[in-house]
Amino acid sequence: MSRRTPPKGIKPQKATPARGGLTDLFLVVLTVFGVMTRTPVGGVTLWAYDLARGVETERPSLIATFTAGPSARVLAELEAIFVQPEAMAGALSSAQGAPGEGFPEPYRTAARIALAKGDGPADEALRAELAALPAEERALAALDRLYKGDVEEALEVYAVGAEPRSRAIRRARQVGTDDPSRYAAHRAFLPDAQARAARAAVDGTMGLAKALTLTWPIAAPHRISSRFGYRIHPVLKTRKLHNGVDLSAPIGTPVLAAQAGEVEKAAQDPLNGKFIIVNHGHGVRSSYCHLDALHVQKGDAVTAGQVIADSGNTGRSTGPHLHFTLRVGRDAVDPERFRPGG
Ligand SMILES: [Zn+2]
Repeated sequence: MSRRTPPKGIKPQKATPARGGLTDLFLVVLTVFGVMTRTPVGGVTLWAYDLARGVETERPSLIATFTAGPSARVLAELEAIFVQPEAMAGALSSAQGAPGEGFPEPYRTAARIALAKGDGPADEALRAELAALPAEERALAALDRLYKGDVEEALEVYAVGAEPRSRAIRRARQVGTDDPSRYAAHRAFLPDAQARAARAAVDGTMGLAKALTLTWPIAAPHRISSRFGYRIHPVLKTRKLHNGVDLSAPIGTPVLAAQAGEVEKAAQDPLNGKFIIVNHGHGVRSSYCHLDALHVQKGDAVTAGQVIADSGNTGRSTGPHLHFTLRVGRDAVDPERFRPGG
């Protein structure tokens, strides 16, 4: 068989002339997608876009957008919080006990969760003494020994030992600090590594205990119209956090403080409408958005269950509802996980 040779001077035709253009388009789309979902510029752009449309959204952490999405760290922390969700149910009914009765609720349940992945008590003699116990019982057994009527003291001694705590108290007293034996008064005098350990044990446990005993912010019967969590954006396919729950309630429904604390902000903006942020201490904050009337102002002390506002439909809201956010540490957590009886 003879091969046909193309006539001289004529180049062979390309089989698919459109392929180059499609590849370029694909690369452009891929690049834009990468910039939008994996860089701070994209994260802020998407956030601004949501803000403009009135979609409730978290301002992205600039560091978090560099990684493969903000979810991993948040989920790991949530997992740490909910090591034993079933254990919470019955454990929280008992009131704070006397020193002789061991480390009291609700701190007991909180410590079981917050200290589950830790190294055990700092004191070596105590650690050796408890070594025979199953790992999950060691923290509470240690706290039972260390508890002398002050929950924070027991947690701090658990984390750093008695001697470093005493040194920090002495230094705080030397500079004239008021009531230096309080953790908050002398924590700044602990060496860095011990300050971190104390913070994880004390703030972790105390904060979680506050969350575990919160009051639901609406007492009247109501429907949850939107739950907490990540959703996939229908077009961009990126994950967006709805950082709270939406409780459907008629305008004027009393809104209750979820826990005792101090009003950190009582203000108004175009997105959240009239809103209140309450600081409950130990890294726990709650916020209440789209309110109709505010009954407290910045700096006010509030008790758990106190009426702080009337719910409303202010700001970018699609109907009368309360948007309720709960933060433990830096991150918003699902308030429904802490709903009494829920
Ligand atoms: Zn909402």
